Order: sequence, then structure tokens, then C-alpha cells
Amino acid sequence: MTQNHENARAVNSKIHYLNFNQKSTKANGQINAALEGNSKNNFPKIDDYIANLKPALPVYFIRPKAIKRATEFFLENFSHSKYDSDVLYSVKSNPDATVLQHLFDNGIKHFDVASLAEIELISGLFGEAAKMYFMHPIKSREAIYKAYFEYGIRDFVLDSPEELRKIKEVTKHAKDLGLHMRLSVSNSNAAFNLSGKFGILPSKSIALARRIRLSAQRFGICFHVGSQCMDPIEYRNAINLAKNVVQKAKVKLDVLDIGGGFPSTYPGMTPPNLASYFDEIFDAIRQANFDSSVRLWCEPGRALVAEAGSLLVRVEGKKNAMLYLNDGTYGGLFDAGFPGFIYPTRAVRVKGKIPFAEKQTSFGFYGPTCDSLDVMKGPFQLPENITEGDYIEIGQLGAYSRSIRTSFNGFDRNLQFEVCDEPIDSMFINEEEENQQELENQN
Ligand code: PLP
Repeated sequence: MTQNHENARAVNSKIHYLNFNQKSTKANGQINAALEGNSKNNFPKIDDYIANLKPALPVYFIRPKAIKRATEFFLENFSHSKYDSDVLYSVKSNPDATVLQHLFDNGIKHFDVASLAEIELISGLFGEAAKMYFMHPIKSREAIYKAYFEYGIRDFVLDSPEELRKIKEVTKHAKDLGLHMRLSVSNSNAAFNLSGKFGILPSKSIALARRIRLSAQRFGICFHVGSQCMDPIEYRNAINLAKNVVQKAKVKLDVLDIGGGFPSTYPGMTPPNLASYFDEIFDAIRQANFDSSVRLWCEPGRALVAEAGSLLVRVEGKKNAMLYLNDGTYGGLFDAGFPGFIYPTRAVRVKGKIPFAEKQTSFGFYGPTCDSLDVMKGPFQLPENITEGDYIEIGQLGAYSRSIRTSFNGFDRNLQFEVCDEPIDSMFINEEEENQQELENQN
């Protein structure tokens, strides 16, 4: 571990742990005990944390085992005998240093960064052992300058002649650039459209492809089929579009970047298994018959980390079918608000003797801020007698939760611990493993 790395990690843990009620020495003692457990890599269980700490703040629980499983899956499956390939982790999905460290330790050495802050973070943690790619199609001149001259970044995404000119001017017409043209492709099977704002239409991209080719040492084409893409055919269609552009522009392609979009699983949104995505992708690449010198990249965010994280919230009040929580859409539950994502939930009761009712009822959530927009309609299935003081573990929040938090109304404080529990739901654990796991838990 480098000194930089240790410093970044120390700052990161301080942020998480100091957020807890600092006056409580009892709580601090318990946290220290828990941290000791962490440092031995012997992670406790979520329910032990809840029983011991009875946390008043929202808590992120991170599962190192789930990060390892997802990382190994991507590194193994995004590989091909004919082509070299790299898996770039999309930092925006979860920039937490603990999460990044587990990804790195399990083999992720390439990072899709979109801002100077993300660049500084990755550089501070991993130094030159990490390779970064500036994948934001419209960047500030200052960010391009620092990325190129201070952080050694050579690969940049763009989707317009103006951005090409900007990158060339700022890098003083560097001769060692990897320039990657972002195509606008169909996002119609995705929960989040990422082609409205960025990407050039394939029909308009030919001239730009030729101009980029003249300025680039490496010319790439990239796209994003939209986040939480529910149909692998979208990758095939986008790969075909990329092939058409290359043929029409008559340019040599060095990199094909198929972006992120790989799904996780949510109630009411069960995607096909991930292996079928790779089958579709590699079959499309085989049919397109790209030259064997083409390098393949993918940029997963959600699929690598979603199931590795849960957010524990506490019920602070109840009115009919609405639960008032200590976290909400301005905190870690942004996507449960306007986009109306439904997450898997598990109720946990530590106080009192009355067990939860077996009957589950649909609930909606309110967050802690004063804004009426801080509402999550769900429905979330929970025991009908859930009440103030009970906890709810909300699953699949390892992605797009920590990275979106705000401090609105002062509700930015939270804790984070690493745990050994398996995810509430998984894209990676197959049935056989699940049965094996159950047997182990019983013994
Ligand atoms: N790459 C880029 C350029 C993105 O904008 C995003 C998400 O916004 C990702 C990768 C990660 O996407 P996902 O989390 O859907 O895999």
C-alpha cells in the first residue's frame, strides 16, 4: 500500500466514522471494536451491527465478497481469444475509497473518470498503478489541461468538432492522444436514457470520425446503451452501428468501447442473466469481424457494485401507509424518488419483544427533509406492523447512492461498515451456490 493510498483511505474512513454521534464514547468504543473486526478482514454481520449500535444515522453496508464475485465475473467474461480487452470501472457509480480498493485488489486497474475530482481521487489512491480514461464528452479546458499534463491521461471522449478543437488546443496538438467518438445509440430498453444529452447521431458521425482519425494516435468509438439495460440486443444493435460508421468513414478503428449499462436486479425488474449479454456482444463482434488489432473496452458501474451495498435506514414515524425515514431522495435514495426505482427491502427489529407480522403490506417512504418532493412511492413490501424505531435494509444501493447524496437540510451524515452478508438479491449467485450458502448458514 503506498503512502498516498494510506492517506486517502484514512481520510475516507474519518469521513464515514466521524459522522457518527461523536459525543458518545460508548458508541465510539463499539465502532472501534467493529473497525478492529474490519481490519482483520473478518467482517461482522449486518444484524450484529444493528443490534450493537442501534444506529441513529443511515448506514452503508459494503460486501467485499460481492465486489470480488462481480469483478471476477466481468474480468472472465469480457475477454476474447481474438481481441485484447479491458474492463474500466465507472467511478461515478460509487467513488467510495473502500469500494474502489476492493475493486482494485480484485483486478480492476482501469477507471472511467468524468471529472477532475474523480481523477484526483483515483490518482491519490492508486497512483500510476491505475490507468484513467476521461470519458465525459464535454470537459472544461482546465480539466483537460490537468488530466493531460498533470495526471498523464491520454484518452478522451468527444462527440463534436468543437470538443475536438478544444482537446487539440489544450493539449498543444499532442501526438499521443486516444480520441474516442461517442455515438448516440438506442436507449429504449434502459431504465435511464444516457443518449439524449451526449453522443453524435451515427448518420452525422462520418465527417467527425475522419477528422478525429487525423488527430488521434488511437481512434475509438464508444456508446452507452443506457443504464440498467434490460435487453442484450441493444449492445448488438449499437455494435452494428459502430461497424457501419467505420465502414462508411473508411477509417481504421483502434478501440471499440461498449460502455456501461449492464443491469442489476430489482423487484419488478429482473433482467436476463449477464452471461447472455456477453454472448450477444461477442457474437455481434464476431459477425462485424473487426480487425484483431481492435481493443475492446467496457465501462460497467452499476453491475459491478450495486449488489455489494445496502443502505440501512430507520423508521422515524408512520402515517397510514407512509413511513418517515432518516434518509431519502436528497440522501442515498435519489433513484427511489423521481425515477421511482423499487429496491428490495428487509425489515429489522431490535426493540421490544413483539415480532414482525408475517403479513407484508405495501408502503411508500418519505425522506427526512422538509421538501414534499422527498417522497418515494415504491411500493415497498414490509411487515404490516413495522413502526417507529424499526430498521429497513434497502438492497442494491452499492451503485448510484453514495455518489448522489447532498447535504440538504443537514441530513448528510452516515456511517459505513464492511460486512460478510450475502446480498438480498444477486445477478451473480446462481441457484446451486444459493443452496450451498443456505446449507453453510444452517451448520
Ligand atoms: N460510462 C459512462 C460514460 C457513463 O456515463 C456511465 C453512467 O452514467 C457509465 C459508464 C456506467 O453506466 P452503468 O452504471 O449503467 O454501467
